[in-house]
Amino acid sequence: MQRKIYLADWILPVSSSPIPFGGIAVENGRILQVADKTTLLKKFPHFPIQNFSNAVLAPSWVNAHCHLELSAFAGMISGFDDFPDWIRQLLALRSRINPQDLLKPARRAAKELAASGCVLTGDITNGDFLAADLFSDLLERVVFYEILGFDASRAGSILMEAQARRDVENPAAQIIPHAPYSTSATLIQKLANTSSPFSMHLAESIEESELLLKGSGSFKEFLKERGVWDAQWRPPGKSPVAFVRDLNCLGNDKLLVHGVQVNQQDMTLLKKSGISVCVCARSNEQTGVGEMPVMEYLANGIPLCVGTDSLAGNIDLDMNNEIYYIYNKNSQIEPAELIRMTTLNGAEALGQSTNYGALKAGLKSRFNVFSANRKIKEEPERFIVSKSWSSLQCF
Ligand SMILES: [Zn+2]
Repeated sequence: MQRKIYLADWILPVSSSPIPFGGIAVENGRILQVADKTTLLKKFPHFPIQNFSNAVLAPSWVNAHCHLELSAFAGMISGFDDFPDWIRQLLALRSRINPQDLLKPARRAAKELAASGCVLTGDITNGDFLAADLFSDLLERVVFYEILGFDASRAGSILMEAQARRDVENPAAQIIPHAPYSTSATLIQKLANTSSPFSMHLAESIEESELLLKGSGSFKEFLKERGVWDAQWRPPGKSPVAFVRDLNCLGNDKLLVHGVQVNQQDMTLLKKSGISVCVCARSNEQTGVGEMPVMEYLANGIPLCVGTDSLAGNIDLDMNNEIYYIYNKNSQIEPAELIRMTTLNGAEALGQSTNYGALKAGLKSRFNVFSANRKIKEEPERFIVSKSWSSLQCF
């Protein structure tokens, strides 16, 4: 039986207030209790103790959105005209690679992600990484099997084909739509009605908004060029958020990824629905889609989580770098809020909050210890997000 008490200067349970000079008692991979040192030593007198000095102990990170499958294309997309052109380049790279060559770089990327303190990721696959055990020695994945198809008349057959493959390769995977510019409204709605948790790229680029509002722009050209444009298709004449609201995509078991192109009406719809939105801040910068209004989302009370997105559109999969970037870009953000976004909010959006995302009795004993060579004088949350620590140990 594996029993232990871990002590540190600060414990950040996230689901409750920070505890100075506290600890967690664990047994067989689960947390028994989170409390101050005296309480734990009294209650579990025979447990071995590991003490971390000048350290903050916090739940492991949750990466709400990534594509390990695209790791082979790290640093390969450049000189693109706009976001549709970025996708054009990605698809060209993908069409030239042997699917067997995707795994090695993805394993390397997953190792980097795990070493940065991440225990759980929402991972998008287009089918090649459906198998549940590909990365299970490194981290846990909520596998999202992403499908697309702009031709509404094919929605039923596309879905049936995907379900058949999913049922064979990984029955736990959730089938989800890619984005409004690649997937018909019929298919999006079918998936919104059947998948939970649910995740979808939305309101990412200005070109996506133009297609939905006016039916024009470079996504139209792109779809024509790929031979999938539907001459009968009429634009819904709505913002991306309003469009998917009408397709039942807003709900508290759902996750929208990017959310850069939003107005106040969209914010109101999102808030009412209880949906989570994933910040992919460095990806948004790399692909040139603009900055997500993080502080406006928070002011509107919309739950945010954090995702690295793929190595095709990010410089690394290090969660601490992702957090640090968001912290620097949003000088008003509360460090405690940013930590909640990268732990509990992500676990909730992925339907995994009974296992991860907080330090609480019953949850898995997965946590990070951030240490310094000095006394910690600042607030413990700021110590973490500002990267004032000098070492990280992952448990
Ligand atoms: Zn993505």
